[in-house]
Amino acid sequence: MKAAVMKDARKMVVEEVPDPIAGPDEVVVKVNYVGICGSDLHLYKHGLVPPDHIMGHEVTGTIASLGSGVSGWKQGDRVWLSGGAPCGKCDHCLREEFDFCPNRTSIGMGRLPGGYAEYIKVPPRFMIPIPSDVSLKHAALLDPLGCAYHAAFLSNIQPGQSALVMGAGPIGLFVIQCLKLAGVTPLILTEPVAARAELGRRLGADLVLDPTKEDVEGHCSKLTREMGPEMVFECVGIPQTVLDSVSLVRKKGKVMWVGFCPDEVTFTPALWFFKKISIQTSFGVDSRDEVHHCMKLIQDKKVAVEELVSEIISIDEVPRAFERLLKPNTEVKILVGF
Ligand SMILES: [Zn+2]
Ligand SMILES: [Zn+2]
Repeated sequence: MKAAVMKDARKMVVEEVPDPIAGPDEVVVKVNYVGICGSDLHLYKHGLVPPDHIMGHEVTGTIASLGSGVSGWKQGDRVWLSGGAPCGKCDHCLREEFDFCPNRTSIGMGRLPGGYAEYIKVPPRFMIPIPSDVSLKHAALLDPLGCAYHAAFLSNIQPGQSALVMGAGPIGLFVIQCLKLAGVTPLILTEPVAARAELGRRLGADLVLDPTKEDVEGHCSKLTREMGPEMVFECVGIPQTVLDSVSLVRKKGKVMWVGFCPDEVTFTPALWFFKKISIQTSFGVDSRDEVHHCMKLIQDKKVAVEELVSEIISIDEVPRAFERLLKPNTEVKILVGF
């Protein structure tokens, strides 16, 4: 089969590799769509996966073959694959803290081979069925939707409260939609790229600001009776927005760090100390319940998904797309389609 294989940092090659064969407790899935994720770019740029690894963890597909020990599934079933699967047995798993399972395995992130390939082999616990009225294309965005939903849920934001969302990438745009559904108002978005900013406006932001040109603090203050937003969702992951998120939130407000920031950030705690704020981090989804809930949001058309798909590319175009995404761009979500 054809696969995009990592050789080194910023070196990915599309080549023929052996087709995976299902062991007794495994399933081979024909990949239909796989999303290019910001975390893939991070792994790619810094070469953080072993040589010859196949990345890609935002996968939907169709079951091609099953091992003899697998029950409850059949050939042709349409499935979404979870990027990671917990063991279900350890202390963390028994407390439903699945993210912290020390035995957690993942696809496309350095352990099991991922979905930038025609086929992928997984244990059945990675699979979630896709309802017949949800397309494989739309379900491929469940991973960023899940991250956004989880952050909105963790924040415990209430109807009528105000929020600022920083960044209109896939996660920021889903955060906007989840907050809109939760009755958050006013809902302010900052995004420097015009195309993404416009999308944020269409998907529910009451005010969209370009942080490189406009006075974000002044506008936020005006819209919130001089108080500032009650909650700030940082969905970018660069030092400047991380710092701004804390500066912009109102006194006693809450900051959610949703963007993954691998860089060092220098700050003076005293500047924030008297605000009595709380800062919370959020990543991934917590449970299969959350995934099912997000699937239902897509199924009931409560969130717009199609609008977030910028482009569908072939497997041959994957290495070039990675290089393109490392430069300034206007894309939201690129899917690889088979
Ligand atoms: Zn992802
Ligand atoms: Zn576990």
